[in-house]
Amino acid sequence: MPEFTSVINKDEIQRQVSRVAATISKDYQGRELVLIGVLKGAFLFLADLARQLKLEKVKIDFLQASSYGADIVSSETIVLKKDIDIDIHGKDVLVVEDIVDTGLTLAHLINHLAGFGPKSIKVCTMIDKSERRQAAIDVDYACLTVEKGFLVGYGLDYAENYRNLPEIYHMKL
Ligand code: 5GP
Repeated sequence: MPEFTSVINKDEIQRQVSRVAATISKDYQGRELVLIGVLKGAFLFLADLARQLKLEKVKIDFLQASSYGADIVSSETIVLKKDIDIDIHGKDVLVVEDIVDTGLTLAHLINHLAGFGPKSIKVCTMIDKSERRQAAIDVDYACLTVEKGFLVGYGLDYAENYRNLPEIYHMKL
């Protein structure tokens, strides 16, 4: 049986999402923003974040990159499984991630999105996991920073399980 230890509870998640949403609302005041969620892990975070943004015009789209599968070691080969549908040329884009670990997925996705000619691309993540960072990317907004460990819940899975958990746990196999 895996061991689960709570890392951030429901109330604290909502507090952090509100804090980040307030900052984003201030930074993008009077502008149109395109949120691009990275499937599948960011689905809950994006849903909560989007509902707290105080901006007049927010568009939402999704991307999907290859996932860990049942492995807990990050893959260095990133494959795009689903592309965006919205035209982001000349738009302000905010990529919404569940967790940034090595940063390789994000670096690949940013590079891909830059090809569409957006006005700006920034990154918002629920969790910024710093220890194994390999790509030089800027995380502009983060709800929680952790050093290491494998986390599940609030969108994050292990072999497609646990995404529905309302809080985030550290999982030890
Ligand atoms: P990176 O390319 O930054 O190493 O990995 C990014 C992706 O790996 C995340 O979007 C997420 O799907 C997965 N990932 C990285 N760390 C964790 C973790 O601690 N738990 C889970 N469930 N997935 C993770």
